[in-house]
Amino acid sequence: MPLYENKDLDDKDLFRSVVLYGRNVASYKFALAESLLELGKVGKNIITLDELAIPFSTALLRHLEDSDKQGISKSSTFLKTLREFRDNETTKDKLLDTTAKLGFVNVIDAFHRVGKQDISTRFFLDERGSGNKIVLTDELLKLSQTNAATSLSKENDARWKLVETAWEYGISNAFVTVGYDKQQEILIALQGGIKRKSITGVKDAISGYQRGQCFYCSKELNFSETHTPDAIRVDHLLPFSLMTKTNLSEDLDRVWNLVLACNHCNGTSEKWDNLPHNDYVKRLLTRNEYYIRSHHPLRETLILQTGQSKEERYNFVRSIYDHLKQTGYHFWRVEDVQ
Ligand SMILES: [Zn+2]
Repeated sequence: MPLYENKDLDDKDLFRSVVLYGRNVASYKFALAESLLELGKVGKNIITLDELAIPFSTALLRHLEDSDKQGISKSSTFLKTLREFRDNETTKDKLLDTTAKLGFVNVIDAFHRVGKQDISTRFFLDERGSGNKIVLTDELLKLSQTNAATSLSKENDARWKLVETAWEYGISNAFVTVGYDKQQEILIALQGGIKRKSITGVKDAISGYQRGQCFYCSKELNFSETHTPDAIRVDHLLPFSLMTKTNLSEDLDRVWNLVLACNHCNGTSEKWDNLPHNDYVKRLLTRNEYYIRSHHPLRETLILQTGQSKEERYNFVRSIYDHLKQTGYHFWRVEDVQ
């Protein structure tokens, strides 16, 4: 299991691992994840493929509006039908019929697979053999009906956008890196340092790699509120303000240095302009290795910006931390100020 090693994984983490670490040759896994969370909310457990075809094709059509590339294969009859419907060249009946027949062929088998094995929880049972249906499990129904379902669904959509962007620009030749637009708090696709498109909100994109928790105090982050102590904030672990003060040549405004914190920790005055405690730098290095284990394009961005090997990446962050230490600033830690 490549996700959050040495931790007790609950169903929420396992669902995240499917989204963040499952391999993708097409975006169907994301469309299925979204459909499952949506159907689970309703509470009905037996879902025919005809019923599943509705949210599944809706999710794919929404993404096809933005990004025509929804898989790495050159030809797909299913995607062709979706495009025809998008372009008003076929009927809804034909769309749903083709989705039920062709849309689920591989994704139902592959959904629970992360790395070489299946995760330990099943979110649905495959009963295509008896009545063309799947059966949602209690684990899924429970998960869909908690607050976590909101963040899971946002994380799923953000991951989907990152993956389709990587496909769109071609991951092997025309290299795309992920940049950060601080004003809008979004991730952007950069090609040769030039902005090509907006990808997705930074909070949704990196929350899963922190298990939806505050980087500092580990409390669950709240995606729905904006001013409560648990509301989610984007933070630079190594303070951006120290960049010019110490004549640092590296840019601290990059994804490797961005973490999500709760409003409370982010607003702690001891933290401002001070360096984070060494424990947090270690935590950042671990968190960044979680990016490395997922596929395009956060992984490639991190490798390009911080180093090919784990050792290079550690040394890169360590050398910046050491440089900033010249300032003689206080090393901030949440336990010491609460
Ligand atoms: Zn916190």
